Amino acid sequence: MKFSNLKLKTPYLELEPPFYTKVEPTPLKNPFLISASQDAAKLLGVDEDLNLDEKLVDIINGSLKLEGSETFAMCYSGHQFGHFAGRLGDGRAINLGKVNGWNLQVKGAGLTEYSRQGDGRAVLRSSIREYLLSEAMYGLGISTTRALALIGSDTDVPRKRWEKGAIVLRLSPTWVRFGTFEYFNSTGEHSKLKTLADYVIEESFPHLKGVESAYLKMYAEIVKNTASTIASWQSVGFNHGVMNTDNMSIDGRTIDYGPFAFLDDYKKENICNETDRDGQYRFSNQPATAHWNLERLAVALSPIINYDEMDEILDDIFRPMLEKEYNKIMQAKMGLEKEDEDDKDLLYQLLRSLEMASVDYTLFFRKLSRFNGDKSPILDICINREYLEKWLDMYESRLAKEDLAIKKRHEKMLAVNPKYILKNHILQEAIEKAQADDFSMIDDLLTVAYKPFDEHLDLEYLTKPVPMSSKNLKLSCSS
Ligand code: AMP
Ligand code: MG
Repeated sequence: MKFSNLKLKTPYLELEPPFYTKVEPTPLKNPFLISASQDAAKLLGVDEDLNLDEKLVDIINGSLKLEGSETFAMCYSGHQFGHFAGRLGDGRAINLGKVNGWNLQVKGAGLTEYSRQGDGRAVLRSSIREYLLSEAMYGLGISTTRALALIGSDTDVPRKRWEKGAIVLRLSPTWVRFGTFEYFNSTGEHSKLKTLADYVIEESFPHLKGVESAYLKMYAEIVKNTASTIASWQSVGFNHGVMNTDNMSIDGRTIDYGPFAFLDDYKKENICNETDRDGQYRFSNQPATAHWNLERLAVALSPIINYDEMDEILDDIFRPMLEKEYNKIMQAKMGLEKEDEDDKDLLYQLLRSLEMASVDYTLFFRKLSRFNGDKSPILDICINREYLEKWLDMYESRLAKEDLAIKKRHEKMLAVNPKYILKNHILQEAIEKAQADDFSMIDDLLTVAYKPFDEHLDLEYLTKPVPMSSKNLKLSCSS
């Protein structure tokens, strides 16, 4: 199947306005393909080379439509930095329709009913970040929206300076957000909450169709999925940066890549978003923020589901599940298979030691995956060696309780501790090259994004140390 021969359906349009408004994309000038993901295309049932599909760029750019496609923008609201923001909606993303369970959306495709003060565009810089991170999170095994292709253009877009406009074709099983429910609660259109809940069950939780207390169970699923995604963020050191409720997917997957960062040196209180003055969305606060966002969702759903029952579910499930999943991943990252009552303390001590040692989070675990009793390869990457020296003594005694042969333990740890993480400094290098019309790094980064646990000997340059001046940088929301 060729991408341009896909036939789309538009089930969301059955909900009727005000769930969405129909809108035509505004094409960019002189569009060109920068990168396409054959891996993401497979999700749609596409097996022919995207690079040879002469209609791909025009379809993404909106000058050509796939069969069955009817374009629309979705309405939602949300809490931004703790405050209800009123009606938001897709201000620059336009939905094309759905195939094989995946909804296609072009981000940066022009003005919509919901653009407010915005220009409906996305710049090359932020589009490269979204394109690569969608695929990198997938490669890391983290629940996420996907990206099929990235196009560039000659259209000038004003930001702090003039930048070029770009479009990412994104895919998701759902584009409904916590904020979609919040919108219909805020307008008092409570019957629409039911319509939306039925749609979400059909689209994201079909096993709940016709089940007793289906809405409450839907809420429980959302809580579980969110807990699970946040556990994986915390374990890999991912800081989302803008956890507004409009950026929370209703099926719990990672969505809307803005000023995110992977931790460079382990820094619990890392803030990656320049706008986040109080550190509300700092790394350590992500679990609490997700909990707070789930409370906002419960409030929005309260006209159709008993609030106290949702609150009980949230209390019973969220923290225990997040902790359990996080601890499980961290045990695997440390190569520990047996359960030991002191393991929680061992992990706590590790995180404290990492913070004091000033050491790269990803590199530390990769080095630990080859630990054979010789501490120096690990201590050599620390600015302050003494903290991890003590911890490694504890770790060595703990390892003595394990049965696994050292070689096997190394293999298992290397399969869960990534070598390649798309940190901001390396993304920035790729962006600067792309802005000078050299797109070569994007496909290199895509290659390692899919296989972050493998060695890629010809792509070693992508793991070079983060320069001191680029460590734990804050990024602007401007995109
Ligand atoms: P974000 O911070 O990217 O999650 O966006 C928050 C809201 O602002 C969403 O409703 C976006 O659609 C909208 N938005 C962000 N950038 C633009 C833009 N350049 N033009 C129109 N709307 C935008
Ligand atoms: Mg958003």
